[in-house]
Amino acid sequence: MNYFSDDSKYIANTYKRFGVVLTHGKGSKVYDADGKEYIDMASGIAVNTFGIADEKWISAVNEQVGKIQHASNLYYTEPQIKLSKMLCEKAGMKKVFFSNSGAEANECAIKTARKYADMKNPDKKVILTLINSFHGRTVTTLTATGQDKMHVSFGPFTEGFRYIPANDIEAFRAEIAKGDVCAVMFELVQGEGGVLPLEKAYVDELVSVARENDILVIVDEVQTGNGRTGEMYCYKNFGFTPDIVSTAKGLGGGLPIGATMFSEKTENVLTAGDHGSTYGGNPICAAGAVSIVERLDAELFAEVKKKGEYIKEKLITFDGVKSVSGMGLMMGIETEKPAPDCIKACMDNGLLVISAKEKVRLLPALNISWEDIDKALEIMKDAFKN
Ligand SMILES: *Cc1c(COP(=O)(O)O)cnc(C)c1O
Repeated sequence: MNYFSDDSKYIANTYKRFGVVLTHGKGSKVYDADGKEYIDMASGIAVNTFGIADEKWISAVNEQVGKIQHASNLYYTEPQIKLSKMLCEKAGMKKVFFSNSGAEANECAIKTARKYADMKNPDKKVILTLINSFHGRTVTTLTATGQDKMHVSFGPFTEGFRYIPANDIEAFRAEIAKGDVCAVMFELVQGEGGVLPLEKAYVDELVSVARENDILVIVDEVQTGNGRTGEMYCYKNFGFTPDIVSTAKGLGGGLPIGATMFSEKTENVLTAGDHGSTYGGNPICAAGAVSIVERLDAELFAEVKKKGEYIKEKLITFDGVKSVSGMGLMMGIETEKPAPDCIKACMDNGLLVISAKEKVRLLPALNISWEDIDKALEIMKDAFKN
């Protein structure tokens, strides 16, 4: 089988892939079709929360596969209900809607904000998002995504979105002064945008101004969620509770699941028939997610923070590293050499890392061992230097 030529012949050309075929792995070790070993600091883009072929996740998924693989949302299924309770308790939210991806979780958040506005003041329908944000690839979540570059060729777009620069509270005030804004939606650490955390003072003020003006605060935790930043959700690092939270990526530990969570203010906005998903909260994905979420606890979060700090402290001393940004085990490295060259050098030497804009991005499994961290750091030290 010729992987590369068959891929380019039969698969739509939407991905610029690294020239490696991954076949299997264990924890933070992954192997390619030639048997070469890599330390995995990509986790399938923050998805494989406890690494590859994690035993607890495998048994949870396997057990569910043998019971019922799908039921549709016309019926109750146990894993979905179990997961919803666990998530709401850990997130401090009231209700959850399950879907299959980050984009869908955001679509649901957007629909909810629009309906909330409709119930209260139909003249206020605009949703503000941040410049340089990323919210997904569907037409509406692409519209929400504040990056002109990604909009080329795909218009006309969904109406009712405007963009504001991050960390500029006056820009936010100016937009809401127009009187038509119902919600503001943002990532607390812009992932695809270059692993850029928002400033705490800005977030504090944004949330308080939004509250004063009955503007819904929607936080996109698709990438930052599920322990990634050393808290269950990143808003815990910032000390507030959003009105709507979306998440996906790490939630399923490798199976597709998205979740949109609602606070007391928004829990009853959507009613029967307003929204749905055939696969949403599928029992296999939900069972896998339960096995992930039940392990997201204070002890793990402390470990994630400790490992993140350790990696950051080391990286910043390396030759060829200009800066390191991020939170917990979500990091962006500004290198002197172009990021693609650094990533290639890492791969050649047995380490998988990815990019975010002009940076090298690290998203290791939350349980990556100290030994693998040290090995990965050695490889990066070599790969980044001029
Ligand atoms: C990945 C990502 C999305 C989109 O998720 P998909 O599962 O690819 O649809 C949305 N928002 C953020 C912040 C993301 O990182």
